[in-house]
Amino acid sequence: MHTQVGIIGAGPAGLLLGHLLHLKGIDSVILESRSREYVIDRVRAGVLEQFTADLMTEMGVGARLQREGMRHDGVFLSFAGRRHYVPLAELTGGKAIYVYGQNEVVKDLIEARVATGRPLHFEVEDVSVYDIDSTSPRVRYAANGKQEELTCDFIAGCDGFHGICRPTIEKAARFYDKTYPFGWLGILAEAAPSSEALVYTYHECGFSLFSMRSPKITRLYFQVPPDEDINQWPDEAIWDEMLKRMTTHDGWKPNVGAILNKGVTAMRSFVTEPMSAGRLYLAGDAAHIVPPTGAKGLNLAAFDVLHLGRAIAAFYSSGKTDLLDQYSDTALKRVWRAQRFSWWMTQTLHRFPDENPFDYKRQLTDLDYIVSSRAALTSLAENYVGLPVDAAL
Ligand SMILES: Cc1cc2nc3c(=O)[nH]c(=O)nc-3n(C[C@H](O)[C@H](O)[C@H](O)COP(=O)(O)OP(=O)(O)OC[C@H]3O[C@@H](n4cnc5c(N)ncnc54)[C@H](O)[C@@H]3O)c2cc1C
Repeated sequence: MHTQVGIIGAGPAGLLLGHLLHLKGIDSVILESRSREYVIDRVRAGVLEQFTADLMTEMGVGARLQREGMRHDGVFLSFAGRRHYVPLAELTGGKAIYVYGQNEVVKDLIEARVATGRPLHFEVEDVSVYDIDSTSPRVRYAANGKQEELTCDFIAGCDGFHGICRPTIEKAARFYDKTYPFGWLGILAEAAPSSEALVYTYHECGFSLFSMRSPKITRLYFQVPPDEDINQWPDEAIWDEMLKRMTTHDGWKPNVGAILNKGVTAMRSFVTEPMSAGRLYLAGDAAHIVPPTGAKGLNLAAFDVLHLGRAIAAFYSSGKTDLLDQYSDTALKRVWRAQRFSWWMTQTLHRFPDENPFDYKRQLTDLDYIVSSRAALTSLAENYVGLPVDAAL
């Protein structure tokens, strides 16, 4: 079997890339180790930057996002018992964020892929890549108990942080890594959102985040130790902690409801440099991870594949490799900006185990400064909605 681009992973990065290539008339085969249901049901990102929402619309896969996604023109920062509104759109010339679950994004992209008739194989096993330094790199995998081999012109490693592509280029790459001394305990709850905007809270017991997925479902998080056992948290104790951290002096608090899903996510910053070796190109979480505080991971994946798709299309139309050669540098510039912002949001809003009362007061003062300075708020807003991108396909 031969294809122009072998794509490993059917998360947001792999599926978006497959569709971008399809729009340019370029073949691809997408290989995914999990089942279709598992990939769709995985609860992760919820905040899309303006750029990602615009990109999906321009690609013709944004109809449901436009209909059901919730445009947010601002977010709240909450501390010392008070919420402060950050008017994102007003501070950024009209840009907003869109609340639309990653599982909805993935569902839309899988439907679009299936409609193209191009190959998307779920539940493949033992995926490995070979000959990436040649002009005919290969992917081997097993499907339905049969060994398969795919020769490609290019391979896109879109297989997330635990995939097999990044380890393949280990010797040619340098890794930058930071782990945090906390994780997030997250729940999906059957409860109507009690705030129209997200609420990021800094509390003496630690960070919490109020967000939502739909007019009937809230998505809430609070900071816990990184190795916290979710089984130690009965639903009642989770709600007690949420309410303790989020309730403000004016009585605002989240609505309580049945918990539909709960789990603990560790926090990490990680960058691979360069993001390519030979004809293997990494994109999305396969190349970099950000702590979710800045809501940047999926958005970075979209930026990577927009540029990778453009570079591959330029190769087929002109035979030139200059955009492919620049791919890693172009992507890394945005990756590092998102790393900086995600780290900044994380350290501004979380409590660290080695802090003393001085640090707590300093952090409160930092937040007080941010909400009282238009310059500081503008800096937060322009990073949160996403720095400018030329989103044209
Ligand atoms: C709690 C939480 C909240 C988040 N909130 C946000 C947010 O609000 N906004 C935002 O932008 N980002 C957010 N993120 C980050 C976002 O979820 C990720 O950045 C995003 O999933 C990256 O997409 P990806 O396609 O690169 O990787 P993934 O989504 O991890 O997809 C990789 C795919 O590859 C498959 N795979 C793995 N190994 C193999 C293999 N060997 N062979 C074949 N397939 C393989 C996997 O099964 C998976 O389907 C959040 C993350 C978490 C955990």
